[in-house]
Amino acid sequence: MKKNITEILHHLGEENIPFGSVTPPIFQTSIFQFDSFDEFKKALSDEEGHYLYTRGNNPTVNIVEEKIAALEHGQKAKLFASGVAAISAGIMAFVKSGDHIICVKDSYSWTKTLLEKYLKRFGISHTYVDGRNIEEIRSAVKPETKLIYLESPTTFTFKIQDLESISAFAKENGIKVIIDNTWATPYFQNPLDFGVDLVVHSSSKYLGGHSDVVAGILVGSKKDISHIFKTEFLNIGAVPDPFASWLILRGLRTLHIRMERHFESTMKIIDYLSTHPAVEEINYPFYKGNPQLTLAKKQMRGGSGLFSIKLATKKIEDVKTFTDNLRIFKRAVSWGGYESLIVPYAVSHKDLSEDNISIVRIHVGLEDPQVLIYDLEKALKRMTKR
Ligand SMILES: *Cc1c(COP(=O)(O)O)cnc(C)c1O
Repeated sequence: MKKNITEILHHLGEENIPFGSVTPPIFQTSIFQFDSFDEFKKALSDEEGHYLYTRGNNPTVNIVEEKIAALEHGQKAKLFASGVAAISAGIMAFVKSGDHIICVKDSYSWTKTLLEKYLKRFGISHTYVDGRNIEEIRSAVKPETKLIYLESPTTFTFKIQDLESISAFAKENGIKVIIDNTWATPYFQNPLDFGVDLVVHSSSKYLGGHSDVVAGILVGSKKDISHIFKTEFLNIGAVPDPFASWLILRGLRTLHIRMERHFESTMKIIDYLSTHPAVEEINYPFYKGNPQLTLAKKQMRGGSGLFSIKLATKKIEDVKTFTDNLRIFKRAVSWGGYESLIVPYAVSHKDLSEDNISIVRIHVGLEDPQVLIYDLEKALKRMTKR
């Protein structure tokens, strides 16, 4: 049953908090004790259903899992030490030697490293697809294809995949579908409702929301999450720390308010940039010039604060001048926190060409959007006067 956002963010999973404490405690314990031989034995034979050892379950961690599972309309969730740990566990739990994976080409860099450098060693092959055209995905399918890995939208180029059509096609062919839903968050997009099997998030981004924690989460059916718990989660041991989980819980309390503000401010800033002569291109799902706008509106209730622009220049010196003259936007990786950030493509990528050298990724934080516009305006002016 779907629950409302107040119920999820304020109450769900917090029924048994001791001492009338309003905030759940951080259960900073590695082990749990038992009153008898029988209880001890029962817990050891069913670690998923008991508190035994914090590499398995921990009450602080479980509160976060219950809330995010409900936000994603999933039956169950498992929190991990990082987004990459969740991605790796989710993928590895459903493939074996000889299998084939179809993956969106512009997906997160470490997802691609997993496929290219790691899984390849175990005889698991992959094919990259652009993802915007389902026919391309259909023709990439082989008899040994077990998994389609999506990221919608992608987080530098903001390309969208049709979740409903791809999931329906995958189901007909017995293929599992996993999606990285970090960008939209469960507040704006619920891929399980479109038939996707597993959702993964880097909770280091909007779920945490304050740039002070690294974690990741997988959400799906009871059966799939239980399978992952018993295999990749317990075995690889990328366990979330109780304190890190508690920070996510604190971040989640304001998720709905933060996401509305990120969306509103981003639309204002894009409005400003779209008329600026030094900006050649804007990549954002909800930008009125986006050719995939209809699909974006079908799948998502709104957008987050991350987008990219192409500056109207082919000179790296111009990109440097723009980047170096920003005062509010910080030059840093990642995104999803309260603060505005910038990453030029030429800083984070090696495949530089005239086509991509002036792409800049922007994260719009929770500052006054007028202050952010003023900051961008000054930097663009410096660049064009150079
Ligand atoms: C950051 C990020 C990840 C990886 O998450 P970590 O928590 O840094 O391990 C995965 N996918 C996307 C889209 C990301 O932005």
